[in-house]
Amino acid sequence: MAVILPARVLLDLKARADAQQPYECCGLLVGTPGVVEQAWEFANSSPDPVRRYEISPAHLISAQKRARAATRQILGVYHSHPDSPAYFSPTDLANAVPWFLYLIIGTDGWRLYDAHGHTVEATVIE
Ligand SMILES: [Zn+2]
Repeated sequence: MAVILPARVLLDLKARADAQQPYECCGLLVGTPGVVEQAWEFANSSPDPVRRYEISPAHLISAQKRARAATRQILGVYHSHPDSPAYFSPTDLANAVPWFLYLIIGTDGWRLYDAHGHTVEATVIE
């Protein structure tokens, strides 16, 4: 089943990826099962932000609370690849949370994956 992605969220993510160059941007995909409604941006707290991203545990915990209060779920993570395509890297695979979706914004556009690195079909809506 295709995941619903609003066009405005994708536009936002492209803008965030550009704004964070040469660092990776990162954040969380939030919504209801199968439907992304929002993307929450977080600071990249990796010590090597040009090649890695990390959302701090404190930010993850507060995001979890915020989502619950809004009766929404954290569906996954987005991040950018500032100088490479939107492929699911070995690092992405090693750090993947099994039930999360992964949206990657790369030099060739964006792609959505499951935690195993398999492409997930997305339906972009206005
Ligand atoms: Zn990556």
